[in-house]
Amino acid sequence: MLATSVSHVEPSIELANLVSEKVRAWYSANQRNLSFRHTKDPYLIWLSEIILQQTQVKQGLPYYEKFKDTFPTVEALAGASQDEVLRLWQGLGYYSRGRNLHHTAQIITEAHKGIFPNSYTELLKLKGIGSYTAAAIASFAFGEAVAVLDGNVFRVLARLFGVDTDITSGAGKRIFSDLAAKILCPEQSAMHNYAMMEFGSQLCKPHHPDCVNCPLQEVCVANQKGRQRELPFKAKKIKLKEKFFHYLVVQKDGLYAFNKRDDSNIWAGLYEFPLIETLSHHAPLPSCELLAEPKKHLLIHQKLWIHFWQVAELPSASSSTGWFSAQQIETLPKPKPITEFCAKLCKI
Ligand code: SF4
Repeated sequence: MLATSVSHVEPSIELANLVSEKVRAWYSANQRNLSFRHTKDPYLIWLSEIILQQTQVKQGLPYYEKFKDTFPTVEALAGASQDEVLRLWQGLGYYSRGRNLHHTAQIITEAHKGIFPNSYTELLKLKGIGSYTAAAIASFAFGEAVAVLDGNVFRVLARLFGVDTDITSGAGKRIFSDLAAKILCPEQSAMHNYAMMEFGSQLCKPHHPDCVNCPLQEVCVANQKGRQRELPFKAKKIKLKEKFFHYLVVQKDGLYAFNKRDDSNIWAGLYEFPLIETLSHHAPLPSCELLAEPKKHLLIHQKLWIHFWQVAELPSASSSTGWFSAQQIETLPKPKPITEFCAKLCKI
């Protein structure tokens, strides 16, 4: 039944069909009841997919519900201000997703009269919609026969067919796209895709795959060879760049100095206390008082050390510095470390 290539198993038609059937049967019996899967509205599918990228379902679900209630249509989202969108996004991280979501909503509303393009190829042309999201919307909303590839699907395919190629390399992406397309059930693309993602997230888990109860254990290469821990293969991670952020907490007449970040770096468009970046933990100014222990904050390629210092005067005010009351600061979109500091120490 199996035809082998140099580095992994290429599924025959019989094996491809068997995999899809078994995964869909497993899904029918074991799927979680997730509200965002009960719709064919492309706007809501898009919203859920963008919110749940790089986010656990448990953490993302309340955000999906909040966005859905506040902006029930793509036009409502497009008509909001960027501050409103980012304020609602606050705490989810990867803020470029929130900004792109807003921008794309405006394009769909203006250039497409509020109607989502209904094919994978046309969806891919929209800013902020990559191949994963385009495939998800095209299959879940319109039933197009395209395979979705997310981290869960990569893992299932790598283990099932014994793919050793780095999943982040160009060659790896081609191999995985081919395998995903081969096992796709074209008549039931939406269910197949939901099933593959759920299978990876709930059964073929990163650290403890439940191989004993897996309906594919007999055809799975990783299970036969005991290679579950090695697959999928990823090249070594890049060393994180360390940065030292020093925030100056300055109060004048009951108002706090606050800046809006520009669009050239992390947290673009969010608000924060005036910031000095240095190369160490040391106080950035001669007379300032540390307000809390430095906190570590991890981003994809950076490790930030966040400090908050009380100072009497601002050494220099940038053109974007404004003065805000605690109530106003509460309503502004802020990076997570600022929100946490405000809640715990300033009681803002
Ligand atoms: S047998 Fe184990 S490793 Fe293979 S697909 Fe099933 S859960 Fe994943």
